[in-house]
Amino acid sequence: MSHSIDNQFLVEPVARMIEELSRLPGIGPKTAARLTFFLLRGSEEQSRRLADALTALKANVQFCSRCYNIATAELCAFCASTTRDQSQICVVEEPLDVLAIERTGLYRGIYHVLHGRIAPLEGMNREDIRFDELINRVRTEPIKEVILATNPNLEGQATAFHLQRALVPLGVLVTRLARGLPTGGDLEWADPDTLGSALEGRHEF
Ligand SMILES: [Zn+2]
Repeated sequence: MSHSIDNQFLVEPVARMIEELSRLPGIGPKTAARLTFFLLRGSEEQSRRLADALTALKANVQFCSRCYNIATAELCAFCASTTRDQSQICVVEEPLDVLAIERTGLYRGIYHVLHGRIAPLEGMNREDIRFDELINRVRTEPIKEVILATNPNLEGQATAFHLQRALVPLGVLVTRLARGLPTGGDLEWADPDTLGSALEGRHEF
């Protein structure tokens, strides 16, 4: 028995909205239908603001051509900065992790966003994330230290090991955040003090 919504009795715009929302991660057909009817009952102004936000997102935001963080120009604010230490790269899984590191107020280097982690069981391999782009950066930029700040869970740790194996032969210092972050958790939810201590207590990896 199927759990999807039977769309044949819905008018086309409603069915279409439910279908589009269902494509989003974590949104099943039931939630998609609930959101659709919420919007349908709401004001026209509310829907227009949502539509405008979606359009602006794709029109005005891109990924930095160097570190793949979110950016409003070809380079993100960190890569374009003249005050950040361009010899230190902090490697994270997602753009939100950059914000988590920034909230500690302790980091002055630049970033590299992998956009995922190595998880073979989910079909995520080295070529599915910005792994080789990082290796290229370390080869061509004056990088002295790479801080591996992937999440403190199984996949994050495995990703860090793969990166370490590829980076150490390039003669760069490779460090890993200190233990102390809640195991199994995500960096983006770590509190700034704990994350700050893990950053300051990082060790050669
Ligand atoms: Zn950048």
